[in-house]
Amino acid sequence: MLLRDFFIQLSENQLLNSAAQKYGLKLGAQSVVAGTNIPEVIQSIKELNAQGISCTVDNLGEFVFEKSEATKAKEQILAVIEAIHTEGVDAHISLKPSQLGLDIDIDFCYDNLREIVALAAEYDIFVNFDMENYDRLQVSFDLVEELSKTYDNVGTVIQAYFFRAKEDIEKFKDYRLRIVKGAYKESESVAYQDKLDIDLNYIELIEYHLLNGKFTSIATHDHNVIDHVKRFVKDHNIPNDKFEFQMLYGFRKEMQLSLAKEGYNFCTYVPFGQDWYGYFMRRLAERPQNLNLVTKQVFNK
Ligand code: FAD
Repeated sequence: MLLRDFFIQLSENQLLNSAAQKYGLKLGAQSVVAGTNIPEVIQSIKELNAQGISCTVDNLGEFVFEKSEATKAKEQILAVIEAIHTEGVDAHISLKPSQLGLDIDIDFCYDNLREIVALAAEYDIFVNFDMENYDRLQVSFDLVEELSKTYDNVGTVIQAYFFRAKEDIEKFKDYRLRIVKGAYKESESVAYQDKLDIDLNYIELIEYHLLNGKFTSIATHDHNVIDHVKRFVKDHNIPNDKFEFQMLYGFRKEMQLSLAKEGYNFCTYVPFGQDWYGYFMRRLAERPQNLNLVTKQVFNK
């Protein structure tokens, strides 16, 4: 738990974040970040598609406090959407509202998001709103709801560590949802702290949405959860086209491939860009063994 807190604190350190951007993809982040620009990420997507894996693309960056930076992020995401369309790759978009101005001005953020969702809708590309920390939760859900009044290519994430997750999943029962355990440090007044409580809630939420009949993305590296879901869908005759498994780029690569080979829909979350630091530190917080990726990277040179 101490190590988790340590890496989460590092993930929020603005100074280290800008230093990391300046010095490029280092510290082993290369193995979990699929490139720094659009041609590189498209190449990574093509390689995954060739193995029967679809992708969700994340232009790295979060907690943006300058309008110019948020506008730059929007332009980059629009360019990714164009590239997905022209290259004809099997991919959709994941984005973080805080990268697009959530903490600056809500109307400005809404306009940025609307532009992205509108272009993606033209090309029939789905846009997933990643969920960030608790302070940004309700306002992000409000944006999702507002946009889905006009567009039907929008979905979001339910984080199982929140006490309110069951109410949220009920509210969003008609949406395509990604269900995760939750990656941020949250207070015990709003979130389960105990791994067992989180895991139990996680399974309950997945089962609820699967039985609901709406598309469910089960985003986890946890083989116990995956095995449980495999049994559950079989017992309840839930067809494969109603759900997918998702994992992060570079993690449990063999398992990603074998799930795709078994005939399950599989989608890899593919982050790219310069702003890799916070993302990478959260991965270390989740699983300090991910430091292995760093040592492998260093010693394989
Ligand atoms: P854990 O609880 O970390 O691990 C369970 C067990 O699985 C471990 O004990 C170990 O036995 C095994 N295991 C896990 N990882 C590995 C590995 N690399 N190699 C070998 N064994 C392993 N969080 C958010 O808050 N918001 C989001 O929008 C969001 N989007 C996500 C999208 C995707 C595609 C994924 C995969 C995760 C996302 N997350 C998000 C992060 C998520 O909330 C968890 O923090 C993260 O996935 C770690 O939890 P876990 O379910 O993978 O399993």
